[in-house]
Amino acid sequence: MRQFLIVIRLILLLSVDISAAPAPAPAPAVRTEVDPELTAGYSEGDMIISAEQRNGLRPDSYRWPNRTVYYYINSNIDPPHREQILVGLRKIEASSCLTFKEAVKDQKYYVNITSEPGGCFTAVGFQNRVQQMNLQNYPLDEGCYRMGTIMHEMLHALGFYHEQSSADRDEYVRIAYENIQEGKEHNFDKFDIDTVDNFDQEYDYGSVLHYSPYGFSKNGGMTIVPFKEGAEKQMGQRLQMSQRDINKLNIMYKCPQQV
Ligand SMILES: [Zn+2]
Repeated sequence: MRQFLIVIRLILLLSVDISAAPAPAPAPAVRTEVDPELTAGYSEGDMIISAEQRNGLRPDSYRWPNRTVYYYINSNIDPPHREQILVGLRKIEASSCLTFKEAVKDQKYYVNITSEPGGCFTAVGFQNRVQQMNLQNYPLDEGCYRMGTIMHEMLHALGFYHEQSSADRDEYVRIAYENIQEGKEHNFDKFDIDTVDNFDQEYDYGSVLHYSPYGFSKNGGMTIVPFKEGAEKQMGQRLQMSQRDINKLNIMYKCPQQV
């Protein structure tokens, strides 16, 4: 089966080579990144990763126990924004066997949802302590309050990395270092299969965890160039989890019945 998949991938790669898309048109000289998922300044923009995680602790320890995620939405987040966050959590619940519960007094571990300046960022995976998820204040459906961004950040807290850091990403995209802002190259690191598991799901351009094709671009050119023609239109969507995002979440948390 594995060999069969490798053969299929080779065929895909070869067909991509033949029909390679033309280089993107020359773009404006300077571009400033404004996406708050990217400007937060953490690892890959919005992921707070501890030193031990970089060294590859067994991923199981980063799963939430009993498929139950505790959260606390800070009181300075107004009711409409609070509701927007809750809708995002309910959508994840509806697509998985996870349950989100408001943290009770004396709760030892929970996602502390804040709305401070500094963009959107989240501690990755279960930390067994109070861990932050920050959604800088924006109008509803913009910036950190896009529905897909709320789910993107919560998926980090559940233990997911970015789609384009998958071990097999080089078979699906080219990282265009010539277009990346100086000093931001580390945001395009990939992780080996021991650190990041793709749960046998094929690379997903439409993942809510995929960067846009223009993330950290210094010149308006694509920084992540898909080999599949037209895939750049899917990349960076922040509307909803893709079916493969849902599949991975269900496999990661060993949901008894996949949704
Ligand atoms: Zn992210």
